[in-house]
Amino acid sequence: MRKYVIMGVQGSGKGTQAGRLATDLDLVNVSVGDTLRWHVQHHTKIGAQVRRTMAAGALVDDDLVESLARERLAMHHWNYGFILDGFPRNVRQARFFLESYDIDGVINLELPDEVVHERVLARRLCSGCGLDWNLLAHRPKVPDVCDICGSPLLVREDDTPDALAARLRDYHAKTAPVLELFERKEFVATFDATQPVEVIQAEIRDRFALPPPAS
Ligand code: AMP
Repeated sequence: MRKYVIMGVQGSGKGTQAGRLATDLDLVNVSVGDTLRWHVQHHTKIGAQVRRTMAAGALVDDDLVESLARERLAMHHWNYGFILDGFPRNVRQARFFLESYDIDGVINLELPDEVVHERVLARRLCSGCGLDWNLLAHRPKVPDVCDICGSPLLVREDDTPDALAARLRDYHAKTAPVLELFERKEFVATFDATQPVEVIQAEIRDRFALPPPAS
């Protein structure tokens, strides 16, 4: 089965690339961030516990995230491949992950911090249908209104300059060492995430010997 971890700073296009691979190759996109956001939106106990941490752009407690990842992966049907997005994010999580799961490789999307700022601060989320918009690349016809469902577009609570600076600091301090650990044990392929989405997607398929995207 095809099993991958996708890594990269916020705004590097992890969700987009993972989504395309998942749709075309029948893989399941497992995102710890989405699971946590679901808890916040549905006002669960976990949501109440993590909301402020997430809004500040900080990492949520390791025990909690590891138990969510463990539960989610235990539910997974092993006849299907998956792409794990947003986990592991520090060395402790990576050790836990490497002890318990085998993967085919790590997709690492690299993006300079200046570009992260530009992209992330332009990001908008539809409050109705949840579609992602971007004022640079995927702009709605009417400002701040979703073309698809007509609901207002919002800035994600953790897409503010302060929260972004915190996330970038965390990424460099905590997540980059995860890559070093993976590089010793797994196949890690690094891609230049400043390139167009289609080019990156084709490069990922090429490096992992996956069927090329249908044109
Ligand atoms: P993401 O959508 O992957 O950017 O995740 C959004 C937020 O969820 C992060 O800023 C963290 O607060 C939290 N989060 C997601 N994954 C993890 C993780 N592996 N460890 C700790 N916190 C996480």
